[in-house]
Amino acid sequence: MPLTFASPTITPTIRSFTFSSRRTNNIVMSAIQPNSASLCPILTKFQNDCATPTPYLRKVADAIVDEMQAGLAVEGEGELDMILTYVDALPSGNEEGLFYALDLGGTNFRVRSVQLGGKEERVIATESEQISIPKELMIGTSEELFGFIATKLASFVAKEKPGRFQLEQGRKREIGFTFSFPVKQTSIDSGTLMKWTKGFHVSGMEGKNVVACLNEAMEVHGLNMRVSALVNDGVGTLAGARYWDEDVMVGVILGTGTNACYVEQKHKIPKLQSKSSSGTTVINTEWGGYSKILPRTVFDQEMDEKSLNPGEHLYEKMISGMYLGEIVRRVLLQMCKTSDLFGQFAPAKLSKPFVLRTEHLCKMQEDNTDDLQNVGSVLYEFLEVETNLNARRRVVEVCDTVVKRGGRLAGAGIVAVLEKIEKDTKRMSSGKRTVVAMDGALYEKYPQYRSYMQDALVELLGHKFASDVVIKHTKDVSGIGAAVLAATNSIY
Ligand code: ADP
Ligand code: MG
Repeated sequence: MPLTFASPTITPTIRSFTFSSRRTNNIVMSAIQPNSASLCPILTKFQNDCATPTPYLRKVADAIVDEMQAGLAVEGEGELDMILTYVDALPSGNEEGLFYALDLGGTNFRVRSVQLGGKEERVIATESEQISIPKELMIGTSEELFGFIATKLASFVAKEKPGRFQLEQGRKREIGFTFSFPVKQTSIDSGTLMKWTKGFHVSGMEGKNVVACLNEAMEVHGLNMRVSALVNDGVGTLAGARYWDEDVMVGVILGTGTNACYVEQKHKIPKLQSKSSSGTTVINTEWGGYSKILPRTVFDQEMDEKSLNPGEHLYEKMISGMYLGEIVRRVLLQMCKTSDLFGQFAPAKLSKPFVLRTEHLCKMQEDNTDDLQNVGSVLYEFLEVETNLNARRRVVEVCDTVVKRGGRLAGAGIVAVLEKIEKDTKRMSSGKRTVVAMDGALYEKYPQYRSYMQDALVELLGHKFASDVVIKHTKDVSGIGAAVLAATNSIY
């Protein structure tokens, strides 16, 4: 497997993956020993229910393409919102000046300043700060949430070093606001929140203009800044990666939540009732909303019923970081109740929703010790349970089943987007390199998830097309992308 490491100017860490040869995958199963599946009917049934053989994945990819087309045809049709982003011009590299990025979309909120220096210098200087969002603000009021953001933004700007960052005279500081929830965009700098996802439930915000909410909060806090571009993290990732590489056609997020954005031909968007239908624009698929053909189990159903958005974002609930640990927890709990997974009783902690996180699954699957010592420590630390080797093996099998399903389904989604692009542009069949910019800690930090995803891509695309596809891990470029889009859409 050719893995290349390249670091362009300043920030982004970029790791590319191409598919020119079949990989021998020996890391994926490292924590699973042969013959470990001593009979456990629940586990066996769960594994069967989660199976995603190639022909099944093909159906998933085709169904996603159908939903994409339905969403492009008529507003509100199809399971994918296929939101118009109003990003018609992607970065060229010529952008100059000081711009900001503000990213709200999950566990953390980030602010970044970027001094752009045009084609030669690109990013002259950049600084960023990450602030975790207090849990209570995720389910509080919009004044509380945006007030918090404005305060943090104000103190970030106050710390700015004048030598490194220079605002042109007579300009306000302009922000590219990355807001990674489904938004009905009404222009490049306004959009209304359609629904909260990923555990957020701030009251009275659905249907409101999110830019207005931020502007009001900035005004209250005496902050002289304006939002020039409202984007989501997929668009930011696509734009940021495109700033350095013109073959980037898709931006994918695999973190707390998931989404994909891509470059679409305007004349292939029937619902775009604009005079000019030439050129391209970026579509935000909101693919997390897909649900038609999916290997749903009783555990997925129960988790969905208990979620803040029941019946919605079912694809996201199978493939993104927020949910993988919780699915595993539910399976383990059932295994405790019906077999003696951890001895006679289920550990009390196992009844606590979201006690097992995706990070824990990852740590357990990385265990290479003969007696799965690290699995034992994770289970002891987070579930307060002593385990024997057999129990540890079973736990790892559950993790692997959930992660395999998630990774493979994510791969099918990427194939769907690539095939939609291919239909209209014939890029891949003409041998043109096509880059998927990828961001998110799930992809970055979970090697097994990544491998399963890559397997699905090769299985579905075939080696011929797969060799022209590059998955580029573009860590944190979405901030740069948002700032560059603020520059592209500056009012000055
Ligand atoms: P966000 O999606 O909130 O912008 P990230 O891209 O950092 O943030 O993704 C965070 C998510 O990634 C976490 O919710 C978790 O599910 C997953 N994650 C974080 N660290 C790891 C890890 N070490 N192994 C596997 N998954 C991880
Ligand atoms: Mg993110």
